[in-house]
Amino acid sequence: RRELTDGARKAYGDWLKSGGHRPKPVGEENHDTIGMLVLRDGKIAGGCSTSGAAWKMHGRVGDSPIVGAGLFVDDEVGAATSTGLGETVIRIAGSATIVELMRRGETPADACRTAVERIMSKEDASHGGGGFLVAFLAMRKDGEIGAWGCGPGFEYVVMRGGGRDVVKAEYHVF
Ligand code: ASP
Repeated sequence: RRELTDGARKAYGDWLKSGGHRPKPVGEENHDTIGMLVLRDGKIAGGCSTSGAAWKMHGRVGDSPIVGAGLFVDDEVGAATSTGLGETVIRIAGSATIVELMRRGETPADACRTAVERIMSKEDASHGGGGFLVAFLAMRKDGEIGAWGCGPGFEYVVMRGGGRDVVKAEYHVF
């Protein structure tokens, strides 16, 4: 069951009336995907959770529930997950693409960068005219981790051996 605050319900109603049903760009305040990649005893696993982007049309499906877009795990190679504007990730089968790039020898960071650059080359200002956010996180079967964003501000947490580090993702420079 979905619940909106009074403020969110009013803002959504106003958007339906005046927004031309155009999505607002996914920004820091209106997205919440969490992806987790786990390596334990030589086995790799992943999961992701989201309520999806705000300001979307009823029935819209984001990247998180689509295997290969918002999340992909191949226990022979590694795993990847994404956050940000799902349409851009779906368009390139982002997480599956990253796992395939790692299979062919790219590091997790390079594979995430390649996926971000592929998105940047395909997208223009069409997503609300104000740009969009997207980032990927990947882990290889040997434990190597990498991430890349379309701009600054993406962080991820690495928990290893009892320690916990917050890491800033590298990013595409426009
Ligand atoms: N990936 C989500 C979607 O497109 C948005 C988010 O990052 O929360 O639905």
